[in-house]
Amino acid sequence: MMQQPVTRTIYSFFGPPGSGKGTLAQKLVTRNNFQMLSTGNLCRQHVAQGTAFGKMLDEYVKQGHLIPDALVTDMVIDWITHQAETDNPIILDGFPRTKGQAELFLAFIKQTSGLHFSVVSFLVPDEEIVQRLSQRIVCSNKACQSSFTASDNLTVCKFCNSELTKRDDDKEHVIRERLVQFPQYAEVLLEYYRTVQQLVEVMDIAGLAPEAVYNHFLTAIGL
Ligand SMILES: [Zn+2]
Repeated sequence: MMQQPVTRTIYSFFGPPGSGKGTLAQKLVTRNNFQMLSTGNLCRQHVAQGTAFGKMLDEYVKQGHLIPDALVTDMVIDWITHQAETDNPIILDGFPRTKGQAELFLAFIKQTSGLHFSVVSFLVPDEEIVQRLSQRIVCSNKACQSSFTASDNLTVCKFCNSELTKRDDDKEHVIRERLVQFPQYAEVLLEYYRTVQQLVEVMDIAGLAPEAVYNHFLTAIGL
């Protein structure tokens, strides 16, 4: 008998910072065996471990330059190819973020068998995001970086017991600045997906609590 080829779905979670996509991803990891990659965390880990990628990242940051799309994409691909072979879906949280990253990544998907790429775009009103992010506290352990909200009433991280802190970029004016920047690159990226006929699943999650977002997502993907 012929062996069924394994198809693995890679979801790109796309949405403004603080849209709740990270929280959704965390739930899918814990409850549904999804795997998740946050490029921010991946960068911080490479830098902390002093890998070849980390050294390059350090240079760009030191010189005040943007991290090139090719470097970010290479790191993501490197991470994917080092995962154990299963059909558990992968979530890329906030990647691809630019058209350049999307072009490089779609080329990788095309030439790699057994991978299916799916883009999910999350829509949330700005005011809801400001409200949510100003409540956010994160784990100070660089390897963990789980995030919680003030209403979780935790004193330490519930996964690794490390101290919880507030991130500098969760201050209201910083949040608003990022929200203003978001539509500028989002439009370019979504326009690119349209031209290459990459399907984008739009999820309107305005006013939905995290648990409702989770259920909505499972229904949308037919789980
Ligand atoms: Zn932790």
